[in-house]
Amino acid sequence: MHDWLVVGAGFAGSVMAERLARVRGDRVLLIDRRPHVAGNAFDTPDAAGVLIHQYGPHIFHTNSEAIFAYLSDFTDWRPYEHRVLAMVDGQLLPIPINRTTINRLYGLSLSSEAEVEAFLAARVEPIEEIRTSADVVLARVGRDLYEKFFRGYTRKQWGVDPSELDKSVTARVPTRANEDDRYFGDRFQAMPAEGFTRMFERMLDHPNIEIRLGTDLKEIRDRVPFRRMIYTGPVDEYFGFRFGKLPYRSLRFEHVTVDREWHQPVAVVNYPQTEDFTRVTEYKHLTGQSHPRTSLTYEYPSDDGDPYYPVPRPENAALYKRYEALADAEQDVWFVGRLATYRYYNMDQVVGQALATFRRIEDGLERPIRAAAE
Ligand code: FAD
Ligand code: UDP
Repeated sequence: MHDWLVVGAGFAGSVMAERLARVRGDRVLLIDRRPHVAGNAFDTPDAAGVLIHQYGPHIFHTNSEAIFAYLSDFTDWRPYEHRVLAMVDGQLLPIPINRTTINRLYGLSLSSEAEVEAFLAARVEPIEEIRTSADVVLARVGRDLYEKFFRGYTRKQWGVDPSELDKSVTARVPTRANEDDRYFGDRFQAMPAEGFTRMFERMLDHPNIEIRLGTDLKEIRDRVPFRRMIYTGPVDEYFGFRFGKLPYRSLRFEHVTVDREWHQPVAVVNYPQTEDFTRVTEYKHLTGQSHPRTSLTYEYPSDDGDPYYPVPRPENAALYKRYEALADAEQDVWFVGRLATYRYYNMDQVVGQALATFRRIEDGLERPIRAAAE
C-alpha cells in the first residue's frame, strides 16, 4: 500500500514526492506517462552529444531565496543571465525593448532614461483600463513597437490576437528605458550545473519513492492501492472533460544539429515578423557546453498536441473555475502545477506552489498518515 500516488514527475509532482518521502517518511508511488522524469524541464544529450531541452528552452530564475535554497539541495548552479534578440526589420535587436532597441531601430542616439521615456510618452496610446495583452504594450510603447515586436509573435504563439488575451501574458515582458538587456530581472538566475534531469534524479533518489515511467493514471488507478493522490496533469482530463475541453496551447519542437560550432549570438532569437516558428534556441549558450557542433530547437505553435500553455483569457478562466470547484470537492486528491491549476506558471512558481501545498498537507494531516488510516 502506497501512502501517496503522485501523478506526473515534473516540478509539481517531484517536489511533492520529495517532501512527502523525506520530511514525512510517507511511501510514494510516482508515475509519469512519459518515459522520463523532469516533465517539461527534461534535458538530455541528443544524438550528437549536445545537451538539449526536449520541450524547449528552460531558464531558471526566481526572486525567492527559499525556492532557490530548496533546489540548491539537489544541484550546483552555473551562473547564467538570459539574453534574447528579436529579428525585426532585418536586424537583431534586444527584447525586452530597451534604449539600445530604440536607438538601433530608429537610428537615434537617446542617451538617458528621461529621453527614452519622453520618446515613448510621445507614442503611447491612452488606454483607460488596461485589460488585454494589446493594451499593456500599446500603453507602454505605442503602436509601431507593438506591431513590430508583439503583435505577430503573439498571434503566432497563441493563435489569437493580443487584444483577446489577458494583460498578464505580454506583461511578462518588461520595457526598459536603460540598457539592461537581460530577459529576466530576478535576483537569482542560473542553470543547474549538470542539467535539470540530473537535479530531478537527485531529488527523487529516496528509498520511499518508487518511480514508474511510461505509466498513465488510467492504467493503474484501479490496480494499485494508495491512500491519497497528488495530481499534476491537465485538470479537465482528470474529470473526463465533463464541462468541455479547457484550451491549452501546444508546440511542435523541431530539433536539429548543425555542423558548425555556433549558429546565433545568444541562446534565443525571436521571430516576431517573419517565419512560421516563434523562436530558435541554441543550447550551448545556456549550458556552457563545449562541442564542435551545435544543436538548435525551432518552436512551431499549434492547437493540437501535448498541452504546454494554459491560455489566459476570461472565458477560459470561467471554465477553469468550474473544474476548480470539482477539484476542491475531490476527497484526498491535491491538484498542483501548471496544468492541474491552469496557471501560466514558471518553474519557480510551481516549486513555490508545491511547497505551499506540502505545508497545507502537513498542517491538516496526522503524521504518519498510515497510522491515521489504519
Ligand atoms: P509538467 O512539467 O507539465 O509535468 C506534468 C507531468 O505530468 C508531465 O510530465 C506529464 O507527462 C505528466 N502527466 C500528465 N497527465 C498524466 C497522467 N494521466 N498520467 C501520468 N502522467 C501524467 N519556466 C521557467 O521558469 N523558465 C523557462 O524558461 C520556461 N520555459 C518554458 C518553455 C516552454 C516551451 C514551456 C512549455 C514551458 C516553459 N516554462 C518555463 C514553464 C515550465 O515548463 C513549467 O512551469 C513547469 O515545467 C511546470 O511543471 P509541472 O510539474 O506543473 O508540469
Ligand atoms: N512576446 C512577444 N514578442 C516577443 C516576446 C514575447 O510578443 O518577442 C509576448 C508573447 O505573447 C509571449 C509573451 O509575450 O507569449 C510572454 O513571453 P515569454 O517569453 O514570457 O513567453 P514563454 O517563455 O512563456 O513562452
